[in-house]
Amino acid sequence: MQDHDTIAAIGTPPGTGAIALIRLSGAQSIQIADQMVRAKTSIADLPPWTAILGKVVEEGEVIDEVIVIVYKAPRSYTKEDMVELMCHGGRLVAQRILELALKRGARLANAGEFTLRAFLNGRIDLSQAEAVADLIQAKTESGLRAAMVQLEGFLSKEINRIINKIVDVCSLLELELDFSEEDVQFVDRRQLIRLMIEIQQFLGSLCSSYRYGKIAREGVKVVIVGKPNVGKSSLLNQLAKEERAIVTDIPGTTRDPLEVQLDINGILFRIFDTAGIKQTSDRIEREGIRLAKRHLEQADIVIHLFDGSGPLENEDYEIIRLVQKLKQKIVMRVINKIDLKQKIEIEKIACDGIPVIRISAVRGRGIEAIEQELYQAVEKERQYNFGEQVFVANVRHHDLLIRAQECINQAKAEAEKGASAEFVVLYLHDALNYLGQITGKVTSQDILNNIFSKFCIGK
Ligand code: GDP
Repeated sequence: MQDHDTIAAIGTPPGTGAIALIRLSGAQSIQIADQMVRAKTSIADLPPWTAILGKVVEEGEVIDEVIVIVYKAPRSYTKEDMVELMCHGGRLVAQRILELALKRGARLANAGEFTLRAFLNGRIDLSQAEAVADLIQAKTESGLRAAMVQLEGFLSKEINRIINKIVDVCSLLELELDFSEEDVQFVDRRQLIRLMIEIQQFLGSLCSSYRYGKIAREGVKVVIVGKPNVGKSSLLNQLAKEERAIVTDIPGTTRDPLEVQLDINGILFRIFDTAGIKQTSDRIEREGIRLAKRHLEQADIVIHLFDGSGPLENEDYEIIRLVQKLKQKIVMRVINKIDLKQKIEIEKIACDGIPVIRISAVRGRGIEAIEQELYQAVEKERQYNFGEQVFVANVRHHDLLIRAQECINQAKAEAEKGASAEFVVLYLHDALNYLGQITGKVTSQDILNNIFSKFCIGK
């Protein structure tokens, strides 16, 4: 799987900048850089982890002045010998230095190949390598934190702890198989079932932490619903603090869901306004309603908006029922138009523990309370799942955890049935296989290609 080429790439983004960085990794790195750079001390003799000023020279012509840093294996990003050359910013200079490195024997690195080598050489595991990509792509502070926690290896540590437990019990069960003639049990079945329950609980809480992990990565999807004319667009405008949604007093004119993005204390909220949900003969409006329902299904948080200036109507109750059918959503009810005389039967909607907030979208009253409630809802989720600082933010990890969980369920069922050790071991091995794919203990070229092709070249 691993080759021994010395690889090179530009590590800084295209375009002009103050400096650009060219990096080399592999056994020939220092020798290649030595041929490229003239400095007071030759690069080959330079003490590692120190910087020196030099000139990149090609056939007598100076290409640029550079700072050179040499890293000796294994104390480098890839655990191989590495050299980094910092030249003046500007694509052309960096490109010429890279080309010279290639002429002197390096090969152009593939996307993510430096990080791939860090993984293959055991400096980081697979979930940490994926965290590097997430870190680079993070769009919000919470996404950044999620990636950083993963990079620090908290998830891997927990997964490895469980892997070790399963391996221990597997080896005892396998011993039983070796002695199957004699009908001995090395693993007490009650203890085995207890261990399975413990693992089930652990995997279960990791799986449910994905809800927060996804939020940290992609933001929270908030959908505003309510019958036409309750003030959904007006609320969205208030939240956006700018006129981005159409506000009108003709019912049913907001046909396309509109999105507004809000950053509340470092968490990204993506707020969608939807078409008024009601029975209608208008085809375009019906399409809007279909979209609204789809948005609702994908929502993390639903804001159900009511018009406080009128009594509750059938349409309000219909939406209440529709929202009740959606499982695992955070719901809040908001009464709008409190600047007008109130006719709404508030006791009918403030009865089932769902928070009720009162606002006036046109006057901008109560908007902060909504923001607070949104943030608190996510914070509660975070505290609930994130106490141990371990959570799953990556869809690949989540899928593997679910599969591992199914295997453990099966293993437990077999143990409860009093089945022979070989059946239990079978499922435990499958679970190990899935868990190992998270950390990269078990891997294939396909998995690696898939993960590292998403990286940029030079990382
Ligand atoms: P939507 O159909 O739910 O998106 O409702 P709109 O935001 O288009 O608002 C419908 C009408 O209600 C408009 O005339 C708004 O000006 C009005 N409206 C919205 N919020 C308030 C409010 O807090 N107080 C009052 N008095 N009118 C409001």
